[in-house]
Amino acid sequence: MTSFARRAERVQPSAIREFLALAGTPGITSFAGGYPDASLFPMDELRGIYDALLTAGDGSALQYTASEGLPALRALVAERLTADGMPCTADDVLITQGGQQGLDLVAKLFVDAGDVIVTERPTFLGALIAFNPCEPQYRSVPMDDGGMDVDALEEVLRTTERVKIVYTVPDFQNPTGRTMSLARRRRLVELAEEYDVVVLEDSPYRELRYEGERLPTIKSLDTTGRVIHLGSFSKILAPGLRLGWALAEPEVREKLALLKLAADTQNGTLNMRAAAAYLAQFDVEAHIAGMLPTYRHQRDLMLETMAQHFPAGITWTRAEGGLFTWVTFPEGLDLAAFQRDVLIPRAGVIVVPGAPFFSEAPEAHHARMSYSGVPDERMVAGVRAMGALLTEALA
Ligand code: PMP
Repeated sequence: MTSFARRAERVQPSAIREFLALAGTPGITSFAGGYPDASLFPMDELRGIYDALLTAGDGSALQYTASEGLPALRALVAERLTADGMPCTADDVLITQGGQQGLDLVAKLFVDAGDVIVTERPTFLGALIAFNPCEPQYRSVPMDDGGMDVDALEEVLRTTERVKIVYTVPDFQNPTGRTMSLARRRRLVELAEEYDVVVLEDSPYRELRYEGERLPTIKSLDTTGRVIHLGSFSKILAPGLRLGWALAEPEVREKLALLKLAADTQNGTLNMRAAAAYLAQFDVEAHIAGMLPTYRHQRDLMLETMAQHFPAGITWTRAEGGLFTWVTFPEGLDLAAFQRDVLIPRAGVIVVPGAPFFSEAPEAHHARMSYSGVPDERMVAGVRAMGALLTEALA
């Protein structure tokens, strides 16, 4: 095909999709998916809600509604955001098709071809997939256990033209599990003002904190309306609902809503009605609190088993929430090749090799591993088998 638009060059199948297809096959232990644990979805409650909505008789749950989202759901989301230190009303909230659509819409709103998006190093692969059709250039900023290095960010902002967006996942980042410190959140807001850029705060794991103190969102520290905050029901209810939200200044929110209208008119009314009914009838905070011990246990088991069975020279992050640990191997070890040639054929274990999580200058000696939803015995057996193969490979 020669007639594709130029942006289609940046729409490529990811290397990850190939082996993710393996994830469901018997005999494969997957630390790759990063899906929330399906046994934690509120199935009974949702069954009752859908049943009631579809037997109500007036058809309104299947009717069109506003592009910005069902007003009742926007109001309930605004209430939760207000309680989380971001005072707002229903009007300030846009319901999106998961957090993922927020990434797509924000890039469409701000990024012309050649504009610069600054990301963390590494960053969420799905964000790069969403941004790429806008043909941005990328700069990336190193991280440590306190999140994005804001001094390095300042240097990038000082020396780079056309920066439009600084993209961050400040809470239990995908892929590293790291959280940005409060001091750095503050400094990020100052820098955004000084250099006139938008901060895109993407925080779908925020509520999955199973250890330590909750930190204020970057949006809650924003004084000039430069921060766009994205959230999602994917990790607190269920990802298949495809429900997320964007909180932004009116001028930005209105434009995002128009782009959403162009993209898909609105989210499905039935799912928005169901989520609103769930929030009105059940205690979602209790539901979230009920999930946390499971994730904490799964994290502990994975990290303890790695400590026992991985050879020296390998390090990993310890997340205080969310679903991921980021594992760093000795520099010569290419995880994509190791996985293809050794890990899959000999242990039936899959992880996500780290290279695609870099927006520039990829590094091959990392992997993202998710502990979510892996039964204990499989987790231990998988990590142990991986450790034995790594010991052999690094000997
Ligand atoms: N942002 C991050 C950092 C994510 O990890 C994910 C999904 N895993 C998303 C956004 C999008 O999720 P969803 O569209 O399901 O809300």
